[in-house]
Amino acid sequence: MVLYTGGSAFFALRREILSQRTFSIIKPDAVRKGHTAAILAEIEGAGFKIVAIKRASISKAQAEGFYAVHAGRPFFPELTEFMSSGPIFPMVLEKENAIADLRKLMGATDPAKAEEGTIRKKYAESIGENAIHGSDAEETAAFEIGYFFAGLELK
Ligand code: GDP
Repeated sequence: MVLYTGGSAFFALRREILSQRTFSIIKPDAVRKGHTAAILAEIEGAGFKIVAIKRASISKAQAEGFYAVHAGRPFFPELTEFMSSGPIFPMVLEKENAIADLRKLMGATDPAKAEEGTIRKKYAESIGENAIHGSDAEETAAFEIGYFFAGLELK
């Protein structure tokens, strides 16, 4: 006997199985300029579910811990100074293919090279102050989510 559960139940199950979480930050430049709501609208409009979000201010040492993979790069002092220069909105996002899709929605690191319609093209002004962060792989997403959120905040 074939048990037919109906189309929507099938798609709900498929979404649950294929869904992936990524980590993002609305950076201090975008928050200062009042772009937070517009960026969140872009993210939700692209089909991401916002699983967790909060406003935070981090110290330079906390920014150094977050960006430890970049320690030693010439822009590291500037990057960590910038990330601790004002409030940010760290968040956890969920959808199918979330990591790659968020990177596509963000655009290239340098907004001058970002594609039309991307968040960095619309809201960022320089390679350093580029409006948004997004994890680049599953392992980094797991580390970055855990850096900012406790398990109880991720239900
Ligand atoms: P992303 O994955 O597109 O965010 O880029 P990367 O992982 O290469 O770099 C992390 C962050 O460091 C970027 O988002 C920028 O904020 C900053 N960054 C990267 N390259 C430069 C640079 O050449 N100069 C400055 N000032 N900041 C940079």
